[in-house]
Amino acid sequence: MERRGDIMAGEMERLMGKDAQRNNILAAKTVSDIVKTTLGPKGMDKMLVTPSGEIIVTNDGVTILSEMQIEHPAAKMMVEIAKTQEDEVGDGTTSSVMIAGKLLENAEKMLDQKIHPTIIVKGYRMAQEKAQEILKEGALQITPENEEVLRQVAMTAMTGKGAEDSKEKLADILVKAVKAVKSNDLVDLKDIKVEKVSGDSINDTELISGIVLDKARLSKDMPRIVGKAKILLVDFPIELKSPEIDTKISINSHIELQNFLGEEERAMKEMIDKVVETEANVLFCQKGIDDYAQYLLAKKGIYACRRVPKSDLEKLSKATGAKIISGINDITSYELGEAEEVEEVKHSGDIMTYVRGCKNPKAVTILIHGGTSHVLDEIERALMDGLGDIVSALDTKLVVPGGGAIEIELSRRIRSFAKGLKGRERIAVYEFANSLEFIPATLSENAGLDPIDMITEMKRRHDAGDKNAGLNLFENKVDNVLNAKIIEPYKVKSQAVNSATDVATMILRIDDVIAARPRARDSSEKGMMSNYMNSRE
Ligand code: ADP
Ligand code: MG
Repeated sequence: MERRGDIMAGEMERLMGKDAQRNNILAAKTVSDIVKTTLGPKGMDKMLVTPSGEIIVTNDGVTILSEMQIEHPAAKMMVEIAKTQEDEVGDGTTSSVMIAGKLLENAEKMLDQKIHPTIIVKGYRMAQEKAQEILKEGALQITPENEEVLRQVAMTAMTGKGAEDSKEKLADILVKAVKAVKSNDLVDLKDIKVEKVSGDSINDTELISGIVLDKARLSKDMPRIVGKAKILLVDFPIELKSPEIDTKISINSHIELQNFLGEEERAMKEMIDKVVETEANVLFCQKGIDDYAQYLLAKKGIYACRRVPKSDLEKLSKATGAKIISGINDITSYELGEAEEVEEVKHSGDIMTYVRGCKNPKAVTILIHGGTSHVLDEIERALMDGLGDIVSALDTKLVVPGGGAIEIELSRRIRSFAKGLKGRERIAVYEFANSLEFIPATLSENAGLDPIDMITEMKRRHDAGDKNAGLNLFENKVDNVLNAKIIEPYKVKSQAVNSATDVATMILRIDDVIAARPRARDSSEKGMMSNYMNSRE
């Protein structure tokens, strides 16, 4: 195998023709195999340990892949689909990666039969278009007012994700949250804040109308509750620069020190006076607030929090109508925000600040309760999937049957479309249809069911006209999945098919990989592709 063109510097690695294709396909398949066991309600979790030793337990496709620090270029492209899927629709990441992996695996069989990659790409494209057509025409219309459907969509997304026992309550919370913030069926997910507190059980998770900050008030001398809150938001520090860092001053006597400190105090008092003049009774600051300032604020009865993250400050601004002030001298052009009440609330583990009854009622916070930070993180991921699914369902107002039913229907219809085709593309269209069955097959396998039996049964029922026959993994049988309330947004499926086809065809078109060895690395370390190349040598 030729690895390095003579014309290139020694730091380059090169793979050409078949080697490049096989190597990329192998890498993509590896990625798909990694996430495969997590698919569906009976999928397993993975435990990931980050370089800093942090532990993540998850079955969320995109989380697994982004934490894995994958280096192979084609494998990275697979990770990108998961990210696109996550950004565009918020769910279906595992499915999209798996379909792409299967498309490439089946492409390899065709390459073995000497079918040219461009023919495969053409066939896949034709099948993709057909798939979109069938999806659209087969999707079921929903009305946004039908909250029951939205709850079912959210529950399907959260089944098997650690939120299992409380998923009805969580689905209800999600639907209410979306309802509170949507306008014309459009939802800006930024309007829904998610916070986590450890200590209680998942079932204590609540929807709060307003903003909840993971912050306690700065001093016990500040009021714990402020009614009719007038809120000032600032993103500069309320502290004096400490002398030891900035300037050198020599203080020789006690008197001099007194004078110096007196000067500091005066400057700080001036700063706080400016805050007081605005008549704000609540202050949220993105930076630090030093001890003396805290004391002065408390004396004036002002509730204050420091180091409030910028994103929270922006949410507060939107929710309460406050302008974020960027310098002490700009404070004169203040615009205070309004809320009915600001309160410090103590939970068993954490202390939070609740800003309730905001001027803009479209501000809500989902406060997740749970035992440990691992549980909380996984519940948050499940909730985000559910949220993404509700928003996707509202966006197109279309849903499809889940549990592999839609994939079986697609593959059946694409196969019959292939029958009418001439030329070698037909084989690729067939293989596309086969690839989609990977989803119901894996759902069965992960639940300990025989995939061949299940697929055969589903196909039989689809042939008999039952488009909604899919896997009901609540009862481990083939069933009418609509009756079993297993439904997914149309958009998740259409995006998954599109991004999987896009990446598979892109990888298939590559016949030359020229890679620079990472420069900063130890020379004994291998280049990007070495692991896979060695395995093929
Ligand atoms: P993804 O990252 O692709 O969303 P998931 O692990 O969330 O992967 O699994 C989604 C798949 O699980 C979908 O095909 C969905 O229809 C299926 N599914 C969800 N709940 C059930 C259920 N109760 N029975 C059968 N299949 C289900
Ligand atoms: Mg999912």
